[in-house]
Amino acid sequence: MDYYSSQISKLIEELSSLPGIGSKSAQRLAFHILNMPIEEVRKFSSAVIEARENVRYCRQCYTLTDNDLCPICRNANRDHKTIMVVEDTRDLAAYEKTNKYEGVYHVLHGAISPMLGIGPNDIRLKELMQRLQEDVEEVIIATNSSLEGETTAMYISKLIKPTGIKVSRIASGVPVGGDLEYIDEMTLYRALEGRTEL
Ligand code: ZN
Repeated sequence: MDYYSSQISKLIEELSSLPGIGSKSAQRLAFHILNMPIEEVRKFSSAVIEARENVRYCRQCYTLTDNDLCPICRNANRDHKTIMVVEDTRDLAAYEKTNKYEGVYHVLHGAISPMLGIGPNDIRLKELMQRLQEDVEEVIIATNSSLEGETTAMYISKLIKPTGIKVSRIASGVPVGGDLEYIDEMTLYRALEGRTEL
């Protein structure tokens, strides 16, 4: 990229290291940024830095938050005896958008994948089992319907079964391998309502 000055090239390079950003998009974004008022750029970059510095895992459900406990875990009006297990924070956000779920969550940050060498100890499973020592009535497994998501669901249900806590799996109205994030609210709601006990 000799035809750009080194600082422009560097900006393009950094942008293209982001997921889903190819070199064309990176160039478009770089020139967009270069044309933004400097104050806007400052606001933008400090939002990135502040988020990265302050965001951490919720002590209870492991979603990303900027507090010790996330707003959902802090909310006394939520049903703390029902825990929905999701793969990541974006899945949690997708269910929250339905406005229909009143329980709390547990975010695994991944799924078991023997092919990628991701085992039960690489996701927040131990932490889930610890939470089950409190007063919990139902665990709803809402991992994706991909091979990894199904493997994880089976594994979790086998772990929980002996405790006598009800374990259910969301209905498979959710497309295979589909990111929950991109599925419309009605489909998610139906998947939740149509869950079956494992
Ligand atoms: Zn939380």
